[in-house]
Amino acid sequence: MRAMVLDKPRHPLQLRDLPKPKPGRGQLLVRISTCAVCRTDLHVVDGELPDPKLPLILGHQIVGHVEEIGDMWEGPQRPETKAAATFAIGDRVGIPWLGWTDGDCSYCRSGRENLCDNARFTGYTLDGGYAEFTVADARYCFHLPERYGDVEVAPLLCAGLIGYRSYRKTGDARRLGVYGFGNAAHLIAQIAIYEGREVFAFTRPGDKSTQQGAKELGAIWAGGSDETPPEKLDAAIIFASVGQLVPVALRALAKGGIVVCGGIHMTDIPSFPYVDLWEERVITSVANLTRRDGEEFFQIAPRVPVQTHTETFALEQANTALDLFRAGKLDATAVLAISK
Ligand SMILES: [Zn+2]
Ligand SMILES: [Zn+2]
Repeated sequence: MRAMVLDKPRHPLQLRDLPKPKPGRGQLLVRISTCAVCRTDLHVVDGELPDPKLPLILGHQIVGHVEEIGDMWEGPQRPETKAAATFAIGDRVGIPWLGWTDGDCSYCRSGRENLCDNARFTGYTLDGGYAEFTVADARYCFHLPERYGDVEVAPLLCAGLIGYRSYRKTGDARRLGVYGFGNAAHLIAQIAIYEGREVFAFTRPGDKSTQQGAKELGAIWAGGSDETPPEKLDAAIIFASVGQLVPVALRALAKGGIVVCGGIHMTDIPSFPYVDLWEERVITSVANLTRRDGEEFFQIAPRVPVQTHTETFALEQANTALDLFRAGKLDATAVLAISK
């Protein structure tokens, strides 16, 4: 199979011809149709995340069809058997970032598998979707809403899912600020507006076209991250990987407000006076996703309906897509269109 392979960070991906993987116990072999490009892929390529599997096939927003199903675990009661049994040959399947957990650590046992001590991640510590085929543990795969095509649904698998987890952390905040109005913000703002929240969009200072796009989507206010919103916010989500935005967002909060950092990587956060945090303001982060986040998100997304905005690239153009993304020159989510 053809695959784009990362041999080491800070080097371009290499096109390789690799043997097709074989599905192990409880795994699906998936013929990949599309794989969306995520900012996390850039962080891996740029060496900003520690200890990736190397060589590595990137990509964790994978849409494909089941080509083969590995042997199932012994005994009908195992949850692995149950999950895999819901997929049949030919079914469409979505493969997200969370690829495997031990099911056994204190986090898994308390409904927080996103924090599992031994979790493995697609396109980071497991091979991902910049290839014609992949194998995935059936327990972590999703059935996808039928209303979406293979290209448009791909960005929902990470920008959508992890954005949704960030959004849920804001509770019932009425005035919601979103810093960094990229892919995740674009998807989550649609749900927030659908649920009657007032969205305040913060972009790079002077980025009028993104501000205009946010207003067209239904944001009540849009401006630069250096601007003060007209009202205090109940919550703010930061999707930009810029630590300086944390104290900025904190200062925009009403009493008891929360700042949620939605990214996997951020530059250092500058110090700030305690008075900005006082009055029960909270700063938190979101890590990974749980399968429950996915199930909830794929229920609500087609009802809104959440619309994605994509630009397709061939598998061999993965480096081009990453370079354009890094340079901020993409107006849409890059999606690798790999097979029909
Ligand atoms: Zn665990
Ligand atoms: Zn991602």
